[in-house]
Amino acid sequence: MTQIKHIILVLSGKGGVGKSSIAVNLAVWLSMNEKKVGLLDVDIHGPSTPNLLNLQNQKLTGKDNKILPVEYSDSLKLISVAFMLQNEDNALIWRGPMKHNVIKQFITDVEWGLLDFLIIDCPPGTGDEPLSVVQLLQETKNQKQPDKSQPDNLDGAVVVTTPQKLSLIDVRKCITFCRQLNLPVIGVIENMSGFVCPNCGEKTDILKSGGGKNMAAQMNVPFLGTIPIDQKFAQACDEGKPFIYHYQQEPTAKAFNQVFNQIIEPEKSGKNEQKLNSNTKETNTMRIAIPLTEGKLSLHFGHCQQFAIIDADTESKEIKNQQLEQPPSHQPGVLPKWLSELNVQVIIAGGMGQRAQDLFTENNIDVIIGAPDSTPENLVKEYLAGQLKTGQNICDH
Ligand code: ADP
Repeated sequence: MTQIKHIILVLSGKGGVGKSSIAVNLAVWLSMNEKKVGLLDVDIHGPSTPNLLNLQNQKLTGKDNKILPVEYSDSLKLISVAFMLQNEDNALIWRGPMKHNVIKQFITDVEWGLLDFLIIDCPPGTGDEPLSVVQLLQETKNQKQPDKSQPDNLDGAVVVTTPQKLSLIDVRKCITFCRQLNLPVIGVIENMSGFVCPNCGEKTDILKSGGGKNMAAQMNVPFLGTIPIDQKFAQACDEGKPFIYHYQQEPTAKAFNQVFNQIIEPEKSGKNEQKLNSNTKETNTMRIAIPLTEGKLSLHFGHCQQFAIIDADTESKEIKNQQLEQPPSHQPGVLPKWLSELNVQVIIAGGMGQRAQDLFTENNIDVIIGAPDSTPENLVKEYLAGQLKTGQNICDH
């Protein structure tokens, strides 16, 4: 790992958002830009990088007690958990310690040689497996630099999301996870953001785009850009052809170029984001609104008596200021505008009609629905810790 100049993790809050395909295309793009690149696929339950590079029949080899990566080209090498499977239909059915051990071996025992970049396709979510990856990377390097909390070559994480609300909720947890582990967030990519018709060129927001950008602003992390849903991209993935290489003239390849350029531009990297955060304290503050009835969350947002407006520090997770506000009389569209004027960034609600949710989104306010009827302080603390349990939206109007 000490022979590697930059390590970038690719994370996502959930599976199926395009994390692996983006990791592969980022690795190929870097190699096309004359960098020496390694791609480490430790997505234990869905290792798909060999398929994405048409290397599915390869097996791992070793030399001098080290694992040798499979060579895709002169400048791109790959290690994947999939190379350990006898058959691609087999699943890895391993208990926690075995998974941890294989992740450890892949992080400590691979002979990569000199690399400019190591891209790590991590397991999705914020559970034990991504935790093992981050902690092992931090430990491995820190043995040599015990006085440092963060290895110099660990640039940080790129977080992939799709525009749907559920994906965005999970990606917030992912960002909180990085912060808890002191891992810089290089930025967020919103994948599957709109569909451009190949015939007429018109863009349709099948999954309502824009949520990733708002979420990134609220969580105070860089937004790297959007990638549309593209049939050719899906087809290239299925055929094991890196899209960024084979379809360089396509508009989606240009979108990838813009996103990837930002990842490697140091002034936009997560390391700077961290410095920015520590220099400008006020950027850590998030304003959250909670509709209340008798001091607890009102399950029907439109019928609440008061709003708790809470300013919380997203780093220390502490409540810095709390006030109660009387809402204007309830009429459609009034509350989103009023809360937007109060600079609210997030509303935590029980039930809320779809129209109201849309109006909040239009006013750049993120909506969390299905929260329990707890006190505002508890809800904010759980939310900041990424532990807010949201259930059904009980509002039917
Ligand atoms: P993850 O690693 O998050 O589980 P994958 O990268 O395996 O997700 O992608 C899941 C599927 O979605 C793949 O079949 C991939 O080809 C497809 N896909 C991902 N992004 C796009 C996109 N922008 N347009 C079309 N298909 C996509």
